[in-house]
Amino acid sequence: MRFLLNFIIFTLVFNVPFISEANEIPKRNTPVSASSFVDQQWLKKVLPLATQWLKSEQDKLALIGRGLNELERSLAGKMGVNRPDLVRIIITNEWPMPTEQPLRDEFIALGFVDSPDFWAMTLGYAIVIKPQYKTNESLLSHELVHVAQFEKMTVKGFLKRYLYELKKLGYEHSTLEIEAYGKQI
Ligand SMILES: [Zn+2]
Repeated sequence: MRFLLNFIIFTLVFNVPFISEANEIPKRNTPVSASSFVDQQWLKKVLPLATQWLKSEQDKLALIGRGLNELERSLAGKMGVNRPDLVRIIITNEWPMPTEQPLRDEFIALGFVDSPDFWAMTLGYAIVIKPQYKTNESLLSHELVHVAQFEKMTVKGFLKRYLYELKKLGYEHSTLEIEAYGKQI
């Protein structure tokens, strides 16, 4: 996802906590703050729902999306996408949102609601772009970095890190966003 934050120069800070399987469940002898435990419990509840929703949304969007042209394929390659042939672009004002609870409320709480500040959203290989930004190459390159992240981490792995970072660190400090802003053209 991309915010209207082009003007912000992100400092590449890599000392933010990276979640791994090993620290997902706090160990008995490891002091863990209550809030961290609560966040892990939250992730346990939200992750399966979000993963299922994103996969089904991606499949639906793929049916109405278009493939990349030659220039866009080349851009996808530069952004690290392994399978540019699978990428689909959907130009629409309809912002993807879960319709069912409790996931819908979680999205709202995270600020994933339709807003003029949101220009595009990437769901696996499906890139949803609002009509007024459909020729914005920089935006496309940003979203293609997210596609590459999905490929590397799988849908579940991406969401696990993205949602956790969004909740714990906020959008501006999400390492996945920092990478996308760093690599976009
Ligand atoms: Zn983004």
